[in-house]
Amino acid sequence: MNVIQPLIELQDTDGQIRELEREAKDIPQRKAQETARLAGVNAALEIAKSQLETHRSRIRNEEAEAEQVRTKIHDLKIAQTSIKSNKEMQQSIMQIESLEHDAETAENRALALSEDIPFLEKNVASAQAQVDADKGGVDGYVAELDARLAEVNAELARLQQERAMKSKAVSDADPRTLLYYERLRVRRWPAVALLNSDDVCDGCHMKQPPFVGQSVDRNAKIVEQGGKVQGPVVCTMCGRILYRDL
Ligand SMILES: [Zn+2]
Repeated sequence: MNVIQPLIELQDTDGQIRELEREAKDIPQRKAQETARLAGVNAALEIAKSQLETHRSRIRNEEAEAEQVRTKIHDLKIAQTSIKSNKEMQQSIMQIESLEHDAETAENRALALSEDIPFLEKNVASAQAQVDADKGGVDGYVAELDARLAEVNAELARLQQERAMKSKAVSDADPRTLLYYERLRVRRWPAVALLNSDDVCDGCHMKQPPFVGQSVDRNAKIVEQGGKVQGPVVCTMCGRILYRDL
């Protein structure tokens, strides 16, 4: 009974399972990366917004200060009508001049700050555009990954069933080979390797002593005659199960 053919078929299925398991493990990581990237883009928008808001509030403060001073000037001018002495009048004029200077200074500061507003608004707009563009992209990407994960899991479930059948076929041919394979495949992949005509293991590329090739050939002959092999022939270097080209 040929054990190599069902063994290679089992290894085939295991290879597919390994790849899908790796992909399934990778998907949450890819999702997390995208989410983190989006968080960065969102943070950039928040910073741009807060810079603009800070600027606007400084402008409002300057304007309020100017307004206050102007009110004071207005009051002083009204009070001038009841001034009796020349000295008092001169003092009032000087005070108004000084206050007018203060009001102008505050107004100039507000004006200077206003010049930066278009630039800061542009920053917000472009950060917002980035968020909008990425949001759609990330949502779509995440949905795609979720769909792919569902697909992968369904395929894995199917492959596990297939694997159960295939491992039974190996076990029916030679239970010892299956046992050896199950242990080895965790450490060495692939666990089954071709022994070429020069007796070189295709897994580790080491030339095997003559008895290895002879044992592989003897096993093949036993199978040919309808007999049962007594366990696998393995590479003396890497331990992989060896077979000749079928
Ligand atoms: Zn080897």
